[in-house]
Amino acid sequence: MSKQIRIAIAGYGNLGRGVEAAIEKNPDMTLVGIFSRRDPASLQPLRAGTPVHRLESLAAHGEAIDVLILCGGSKDDLPAQGPQLAALFNTVDSFDTHARIPEYFAAVDAPARANGKTALISIGWDPGLFSLNRLYGEALLPDGATYTFWGKGLSQGHSDAVRRVPGVKAGVQYTLPSPQAIERVRAGERPQLSTRDKHTRECFVVLEEGADAAAVERAIVTMPDYFADYDTTVNFIDEATLMRDHRRMPHGGFVIRSGNTSAEHAQVIEYSLQLESNPEFTASVLVAYARAAYRLNRQGQCGAMTAFDVAPGLLSIKSPAQLREELL
Ligand code: NAP
Repeated sequence: MSKQIRIAIAGYGNLGRGVEAAIEKNPDMTLVGIFSRRDPASLQPLRAGTPVHRLESLAAHGEAIDVLILCGGSKDDLPAQGPQLAALFNTVDSFDTHARIPEYFAAVDAPARANGKTALISIGWDPGLFSLNRLYGEALLPDGATYTFWGKGLSQGHSDAVRRVPGVKAGVQYTLPSPQAIERVRAGERPQLSTRDKHTRECFVVLEEGADAAAVERAIVTMPDYFADYDTTVNFIDEATLMRDHRRMPHGGFVIRSGNTSAEHAQVIEYSLQLESNPEFTASVLVAYARAAYRLNRQGQCGAMTAFDVAPGLLSIKSPAQLREELL
């Protein structure tokens, strides 16, 4: 095999660990290091012997890294780290604050372009694979409507909001798609669906000692922006049950395009994901796009790009000839 693609990880949380696991499944790649803001001695990589360094030392490793996968959080980490690191490395990240993608793109594009680097931003499943499927749906069925449903899945942001309610000791929140709404969309009805029609929310909460359950429930279900627009159920459980049944991070969802190619013929396109681990799956997507980032940079294609700009063949370990023979 030709030289392996040398990958490094910046930020070692759920996604960082997922990238480490995903690289093991891709024989054309090797993990050369993990970089963190925390004390390297405090981190335990999945594979003993993987070098762990301080994030500040990254610049000194420039020659040893082909692609740096950014695994920081979208809210506070990537807005600073993305533009900075795109000046030094080819990068892939999973920036998922949808409303801010245009400004993030611009902030990463300028330093990447100025330094001959390739930066793939907002990669993952949403944004990412779901975005591609929304695009395919619109392009292929211009007379139609697109629907995205999420879940069943654990929402990190909503779980954080539940945990901030006074009287809550611990808790998680799941988003559930409405089966009735999905059936109407699949049937080609093109329904107008409100927020409440599309998803419900379910919380599992451990109360602080002496907390008033009714007051906690009221505070959750009426919380503006997070819960007030949904039908929300709150289940009270003990800490052992939370630890036993709610430690995983499942997620997934559906992108459905329903449209007409003529007055007589309705067509439905559906793409769905059922994920036992959101971060591990997202990391697998990031790793496939790291291969594309490496190839694009070798072709001289620099600057920021999204999933829309990357040809699918570039994701595969297989050569274009092999892909034509085996998958076309
Ligand atoms: P996370 O576990 O909170 O990690 C984020 C960062 O926090 C890490 O890079 C790490 O940086 C630091 N960190 C992690 N554990 C820590 C601890 N115990 N103490 C102190 N700092 C710690 O977040 P994540 O689950 O990996 O998710 C990262 C981002 O991925 C999310 O913000 C989300 O936006 C994005 N995402 C995108 C998609 C998509 O489809 N596009 C899907 C899922 C997630 P240091 O190592 O430098 O400290």
